[in-house]
Amino acid sequence: MNIIEQGKRFVQWLRELGERTAWDWQRCPQCGHRQTCKYGFYQRRVWFLEGQREIRVQRHYCYNCKRTYSEQCRFLVRGSWYARGVHRQAIDHWQHVGSSLRRTAEWLRSCMGHRERWQMWRSWEELERRVVCHLSASTVHRWLDKAGRKAQQSVAGQLEAVPISRQLGTDGMWARLRGGAKRVVLLVVDSVSGVIWPPVVAAGEESEEPWAQLFERARQAGLPLQAMRGVTSDGCHGLMAYLRYQLHWVNHQRCVWHLWRGLASQSLWTGPMAHRW
Ligand SMILES: [Zn+2]
Repeated sequence: MNIIEQGKRFVQWLRELGERTAWDWQRCPQCGHRQTCKYGFYQRRVWFLEGQREIRVQRHYCYNCKRTYSEQCRFLVRGSWYARGVHRQAIDHWQHVGSSLRRTAEWLRSCMGHRERWQMWRSWEELERRVVCHLSASTVHRWLDKAGRKAQQSVAGQLEAVPISRQLGTDGMWARLRGGAKRVVLLVVDSVSGVIWPPVVAAGEESEEPWAQLFERARQAGLPLQAMRGVTSDGCHGLMAYLRYQLHWVNHQRCVWHLWRGLASQSLWTGPMAHRW
């Protein structure tokens, strides 16, 4: 099952969970029997993005397997004081915004508990009498770890038969490693769907070889090279040579953003227009 099908299945599961009726919950999830009865409930204090709320969780007892079970809710994560929305926003904040774990936790605490940065955003408001939120960076770290382990289990076949737009973008990102060594991470991404194919780490990007490795790796992961139509990139010679000789059916387009940046660095900042900036 590829990554898109997995995502759809997960959303479908959440939707079905939300649509479950009292009649559905009467069926024991362990043995499937309907000889069950309601068996009290417990209260849980859960942090949502809007603040803390008390949630009542119904329990059931099964006469057949003599076990109890609790009703599940799509917005709750089992065993957590924080709702699913908070977990997902924390991971998204760390990944998409690119902030540190400490800042992610601080941001969410401010939103949920109306303290810390909230007071800066809404300085004209009186401080509310709210429960203090204690979400810590180590908790966010644990959620990320859990999400990473889960993602790792599904790596095999993750990109199989993923629909492609046939238009790809590629670039290299330089990183300085511990000890002063420099490496470049090469990436190829579907320009429309945003699917990122497995990256390659290389010592340099000026020869054809690392680019050949990158596209070979993408091919192994399921990218049909014959179906590709266009690649957008900067003017890297290694890539251009590789495309010209190995993927000659692919149209190459220079990335406009890279060109602008190149032009800006040469003429606007240092040229005759420099005084205007
Ligand atoms: Zn049962």
